[in-house]
Amino acid sequence: MKVRTRYAPSPTGNMHIGNLRTALYGYLYARKTGGDFVVRIEDTDQARFQENATEIIFRTLEQTGLDYDEGPGKEGACGPYYQSERREIYKEYAQKLIDKGAAYYCFCTDEQLEADRKAAEEKGEVYKYPKTCLRLSKDEIQKRLDAGEPYVIRQNTPTSGTVSFDDVIFGTISVDCADLDDMILLKSDGLPTYNFANVVDDHLMGITHVMRGSEYLSSTPKYNLLYQAFGWETPVYVHLPLIMKDATHKLSKRNGDMSFEDLIAIGFLPEAVVNYIALLGWNDGTNQEIYTRQELIDAFDLTGISKSPSIFDLPKIRWMNGEYIKALPFETFLPLALPWIEKSPELSKYDAGKLAKLIQSRIEILSEIPEKLAFLPNVAPHTPELYCHKKFKLDARSARESLEQVRALYETLPIWDETSIHDGLIELAQKTGKKNGMIMWPARVALCGLESTPGGAVELADILGRDETLRRIEQAIALLQDAHKGDEG
Ligand code: GLU
Repeated sequence: MKVRTRYAPSPTGNMHIGNLRTALYGYLYARKTGGDFVVRIEDTDQARFQENATEIIFRTLEQTGLDYDEGPGKEGACGPYYQSERREIYKEYAQKLIDKGAAYYCFCTDEQLEADRKAAEEKGEVYKYPKTCLRLSKDEIQKRLDAGEPYVIRQNTPTSGTVSFDDVIFGTISVDCADLDDMILLKSDGLPTYNFANVVDDHLMGITHVMRGSEYLSSTPKYNLLYQAFGWETPVYVHLPLIMKDATHKLSKRNGDMSFEDLIAIGFLPEAVVNYIALLGWNDGTNQEIYTRQELIDAFDLTGISKSPSIFDLPKIRWMNGEYIKALPFETFLPLALPWIEKSPELSKYDAGKLAKLIQSRIEILSEIPEKLAFLPNVAPHTPELYCHKKFKLDARSARESLEQVRALYETLPIWDETSIHDGLIELAQKTGKKNGMIMWPARVALCGLESTPGGAVELADILGRDETLRRIEQAIALLQDAHKGDEG
């Protein structure tokens, strides 16, 4: 049988990490098995609907390369793929359940339900809808329907016995029917609840494997009762483990945890995020961490999905993103880096390509770019001690001497580019019998006033240009001269 997985998001806001993982696993499993990956938009909850959320869903699928075989814009045999356009289908299937006695009309008002709930609480009982409307006669129902009374349709769950299902990850889950509420299947606006629509659609769309968050584990027995009532075969259930922010807190949008868009906005690459998310709850038994898309497809298997919650580890995903950035061809990195470089007006006087080159292997996320380059426009205030370096046998006097030699070199270099600066400095060290560091260290410190920087003397001098480089070297010589005078005095 051909595998068919689905991603069935509700357009209620941003794409959260858990949503994206569900989409990814459905996609990977379909690709791995040569099956179909279906997208269905679950937009029947008008109250939770958010204007641009559908757009975000499609944009994210595109950015992450999770291409689907059927869904909005890719009509297959099972459309429409927006639940809001399937209203008539749900009505028809709800009616089938009513005919079978597995569902019933309920005309109870909110006030009535509230009163029932209170009464149950006062008795110390867990509230369950008391099946009041199940007792209505056919005629009574018809009369109330004809009178245009608002109604919902409820599932008629058995009051005894157990219902169970097998989940690939969590094993067999059983519940007592007595604990199940008669959930609403069709709301008074004629639209289905998730609880009903997911069953009807997964069946009609031929979904073989239902992958979704483990928050649906406890409702799945009720869905199984619906499958049974219809006489349909249940799909294979794959409930995915929780994603936590730490040992005790769930990753959640309510806690302000980052969504996919938030991650992209601060300079994560979609491919890196996908790679990281693939490993949130799944591994192939190896220590491999960086996977190409094809490697993920080949390695992915349901048996590698774990039951225990996984922790969204920010340092880890940052590290992984840094690896992806380093591995990008420079032509790909440059346009990604440019907007971040341009954010800082002070950096606009430098060659953006050279800045990008300087930074590519030294960041984990793109938003670090402005801060990592912020040192360039001005030399940090520093003292002569910074030039002193034991290993390079540098003190204020020898550093000044090196800088004077560097100045002479820089004044006369015929060409000002990295190669020429580099070769000139190396040659200078050779000619003067100094270790390279004895020249390079002061030649870099003079340009920035910092112990460490992205890039060494050569790259910085090239970016700053000859005039500015000489101006900074001059200043450093003056600083060292003063220190030196101080020594003598
Ligand atoms: N519409 C549900 C959600 O976004 C999907 C659950 C499922 O995959 O069945 O949470």
